[in-house]
Amino acid sequence: MSKVSKAVVVFSGGQDSTTCLIQALNQYDEVHGITFDYGQRHSEEIEVARSLGKRLGLVSHKILDVSMLNELAISALTRDSIEVSNELMENGLPNTFVPGRNILFLTLAGIYAYQLGANSVITGVCETDFSGYPDCRNDFVKAMESALNQGMDRQCEIVTPLMWLNKAETWALADQYKSLELVRDETLTCYNGIIGNGCGTCPACLLRQRGLEDYCNNREQVQSDLASKCQK
Ligand code: ZN
Repeated sequence: MSKVSKAVVVFSGGQDSTTCLIQALNQYDEVHGITFDYGQRHSEEIEVARSLGKRLGLVSHKILDVSMLNELAISALTRDSIEVSNELMENGLPNTFVPGRNILFLTLAGIYAYQLGANSVITGVCETDFSGYPDCRNDFVKAMESALNQGMDRQCEIVTPLMWLNKAETWALADQYKSLELVRDETLTCYNGIIGNGCGTCPACLLRQRGLEDYCNNREQVQSDLASKCQK
């Protein structure tokens, strides 16, 4: 009997992680989801993730309360009193940066993978369109993977399907799995908590919209760019 391939997807209900989830469902025998509730500004995303996870066919879906992150990390995403700004802060980071977020999330996802006997943790982080977050860079992910494997004495890969894709290519990836409409209409990326096309003005909406426009205007080119990146 061949071994069942299992993956844990860090799943927020947004465009990127939903696209990763759809791809994983096509690549692994068993896909499990993990979603983090840290009292984020767009808390509606928890409900979006819950219902999408059910519909798409997650074998299990952990929704974890990590409100301690909210208590410690002060950011426009964790405090309603701080408005999301399009300007960078003095340290060169956007004010939506939540320090330690992906360190915590990947650690918890790694623990869940350990319990399930899954050898892959999948996250939709992306260095190309990374909004300036240092914990979305490839070097960070590789360092986390090494720390988790050393700390738990087993091999679990952190898979980052979107790491080198731009937003247009991420749309092309969803389209490749015949899920462009689903991702466009039913995921939540907007910092103002509006599903689908969102508010249209926050940084997350702008990034998402520009990518979609680029993809729709140059479908064949973007698809071929995606294909050549996926071969590497
Ligand atoms: Zn928005």
